[in-house]
Amino acid sequence: MPDKMSFGGDGDGPPFDERLLGGGFTDDDADEYSLRPRRLSEYIGQPKIKDNLGIALAAARLRDECIDHILLHGPPGLGKTSLAQVIANEMGANLRTTSGPAIERPGDLVAILTNLDANSVLFIDEIHRLNRLAEEFLYPAMEDFEMDVVIGKGPSARSVKVPLPRFTLIGATTRAGLLSNPLRDRFGIAHYFAFYSPEDLRRIITRSADILKVPTDEAGALEIARRSRGTPRIANRLLKRVRDFAQVRAEGRIDREIADEALRMQGVDELGLDQFDRSYLRTIIEKFEGGPVGVETMAATLQDERDTIEDVYEPYLLQLGFLNRTPRGRIATRGAYEHLGLPYGGGPNGTQPATM
Ligand code: ADP
Repeated sequence: MPDKMSFGGDGDGPPFDERLLGGGFTDDDADEYSLRPRRLSEYIGQPKIKDNLGIALAAARLRDECIDHILLHGPPGLGKTSLAQVIANEMGANLRTTSGPAIERPGDLVAILTNLDANSVLFIDEIHRLNRLAEEFLYPAMEDFEMDVVIGKGPSARSVKVPLPRFTLIGATTRAGLLSNPLRDRFGIAHYFAFYSPEDLRRIITRSADILKVPTDEAGALEIARRSRGTPRIANRLLKRVRDFAQVRAEGRIDREIADEALRMQGVDELGLDQFDRSYLRTIIEKFEGGPVGVETMAATLQDERDTIEDVYEPYLLQLGFLNRTPRGRIATRGAYEHLGLPYGGGPNGTQPATM
């Protein structure tokens, strides 16, 4: 395996597979349980989701019923698991957590469903990775709270309906496009998670700093927030890195200067880009004349998975307007050139980049 660090990066910062700015769960986040919001009132940001859910929860409580099945869709680290926990708490229900890849056979799902307490919440993370056979078991379970189980083999095999307790399924996915239509249609409620604003992230960081007992002023929290790529998990992770730096250099207090210095040392720039993002943009600009370049070619050039590129690198670069996704491939925008301090020649080969 070639050394990925040697490719195109700035040379600073952690190696690729320990990405500080990835939204996915890493060892750094092992203690994130203590930072999770428990009630809807502690859940910061996502006002549209909170308003709609608040009403759905109140209505379900009035009718003394489970809340409808919910699909949560959005990039990793934006609070889907936390929201599932909040919903269970608000309903006074038990939460059972699993994930698509963990359910290998339909039998695994049968075991989970038949062991649910009445009115509990079942959370399936990465539901787009559920295997198709297991998925088909889920349809009658979601719709009619029963399961078709085949007993016996060959000509004497017969199908029996096994009743299930009523439950709420919360499915989370980073890729709603990969969900089959029959599964998607069985969710009564669906919410898309947008990236958080710097102000919402500042509030999340202030709350986490209180829990971790790290004195942090508002400007310090906002500095971390601005570099957190709109993602609470990254905000909490950066807070912990800055805390370490502050303990050594500033008697544990976090202000704007300390946050800035600590994050610069980690290779995180003022927009929250690290060497991965910079090398991604540099590759389009320097090796492919600004694009368009196909995602498969980018994956091969960067020696990374296509999924990682699409789920981890690109959403934030698109959000910043540094990248255009067109049917012919990816194009780096003027903003990307300017951020990297590279001369902009008006797009590929001196022409204006296509924005389709
Ligand atoms: P996902 O399931 O989308 O990957 P998580 O729910 O695991 O994300 O969130 C990651 C961490 O970010 C949580 O431990 C929590 O501390 C924090 N977090 C996420 N959303 C919020 C929020 N809205 N308010 C406060 N903290 C949040």
